[in-house]
Amino acid sequence: MSESVLDLRKDPMGWAIADYYNNGVAGRLRVFSSMFDEDEMSVKDLFRTFDKMPLLEQRALELCCGNILDVGAGSGCHSLALQEMGKDVCAIDISPRSVDVMQKRGVADVRFVNMYDKSLKGKFDTILMLMNGTGIVGRIDKFSEFFARINELLSEDGQVLIDSSDLIYLYENEDGSVDIDLNGSYYGEVDFMMQYKNMKGDTFDWLYVDFETLSYHADQNGFCSELIFEGEHYDYLARITRK
Ligand code: SAH
Repeated sequence: MSESVLDLRKDPMGWAIADYYNNGVAGRLRVFSSMFDEDEMSVKDLFRTFDKMPLLEQRALELCCGNILDVGAGSGCHSLALQEMGKDVCAIDISPRSVDVMQKRGVADVRFVNMYDKSLKGKFDTILMLMNGTGIVGRIDKFSEFFARINELLSEDGQVLIDSSDLIYLYENEDGSVDIDLNGSYYGEVDFMMQYKNMKGDTFDWLYVDFETLSYHADQNGFCSELIFEGEHYDYLARITRK
């Protein structure tokens, strides 16, 4: 598992976030993957305030308690909302430009670090991972490494609040049947590459996982999971705790 951070020259999302923060507008943040057609990510939406967040995220923020770790905090939208609620949060990200913006926006405790980097120490009561938080796991076969790291970072009675989507809808036929190659890799394993202006990031693995599969792997690694909220389009929020 890589424990590294992004190079300043390979941080398209971070540059888009910085442009939006500095100028109030950003260019197109383009997203390429082998699974989907070329897409664009709304940079403005990365700056969403509590009122503009989907209910799933609002619910997650309300459930956050104790000392909180916001993993992959991006523009700091969730960390800032948590601070406004009087909660105690540490924001981490591997994007140098995003970390810079979070500091400027007033996130009190921001660290430029990968969640797998052992220099990140501490026991957190809540580990928050939003906007397809399971993405950071990368692939199904990385779940044991993920849970081993969660085990290190989570306080005894701590909780992980994480969201994902079941991509099964991409394979459903009109009659409700599903075309999945059961011998192939898991259908939610996606690779992405982002581009902002002329800057391209490296390709990275990003996992979308259905709740049953998440629960299975949590169980295999000593954790249990609870379905907290279901969104409107195969998305959900889960709470993971120790068994
Ligand atoms: N949570 C934010 C941003 C989501 S985008 C929001 O909801 O708006 C995912 C973020 O995770 C990116 O900023 C990316 O740089 C960061 N990230 C990816 N892998 C990471 C890792 N291993 N450790 C910490 N941050 C990571």
